[in-house]
Amino acid sequence: MTSRTPLIAGNWKLHNTVAESQALASAIAAHVGNGLACEVVVGPVATSLSAVSQTLRGSAVGLSAQNTHWEDSGAFTGELSPTLLADVGCSHCIIGHSERRQYFGETDAGVRKKVAAVLAHKVVPIVCVGESLEQREAGKTLDVVLGQVEAATEGLDAVALAPLVVAYEPIWAIGTGRTAKAEDAQDVHRAIRGRLAELKGESWSDSIRILYGGSVKPSNADELLAEPDVDGALVGGASLSADNFIPIIDAGVRRAES
Ligand code: PEP
Repeated sequence: MTSRTPLIAGNWKLHNTVAESQALASAIAAHVGNGLACEVVVGPVATSLSAVSQTLRGSAVGLSAQNTHWEDSGAFTGELSPTLLADVGCSHCIIGHSERRQYFGETDAGVRKKVAAVLAHKVVPIVCVGESLEQREAGKTLDVVLGQVEAATEGLDAVALAPLVVAYEPIWAIGTGRTAKAEDAQDVHRAIRGRLAELKGESWSDSIRILYGGSVKPSNADELLAEPDVDGALVGGASLSADNFIPIIDAGVRRAES
């Protein structure tokens, strides 16, 4: 269907002790082994990154942080930096998640700096964009989402941005059990790809993975992943158990093989 390798990423948010994180990572790694037709990434809490990195050694499962600061080091109490994420073995970093924008004052300008900073350390940014229910009902979905995409990529060229992953996560669908209809998700994904093409060129935009996030579960993953511009999923709640996450990974494999 497409040459883009599907990506299934788990965002464990503020859940799991070190031991619980390692047990979950180990069950996922056992399923993924040396690699599947789809890429798999897990995102534990910061205190578990080091231990999970050890657990995943030798497996094809990538490791994602949930946030970073843009500076490498300095007087920034409580922060993590791209240098430290790379040092601990992170391959990916979630940036601009709506919970960070909503509760921790994350701005488009901060997101842009973080994207540039992680790319400089060869860490793949998974940039989250998405509209609130109020914005959707006011017909502003594309204004909001495309504005966030534009801000996140500003000042960086297609070469620097080659590894970029975008995650479209309508805020009203995150953790609520409400999922966007597959065709509505596809409309937004297509618009995102179109804007990326206008900004940095069509061949680049054709290579960029755009994930859907918002109450993805085993029962709706295939339908969402059947859409041409839905290249994978960013999964919150359903990534916290191997029994739910593995069938979503398998849906990613089916997409890759379709
Ligand atoms: C998320 O936190 O990125 C997310 C999509 O959560 P959930 O799958 O629980 O809606």
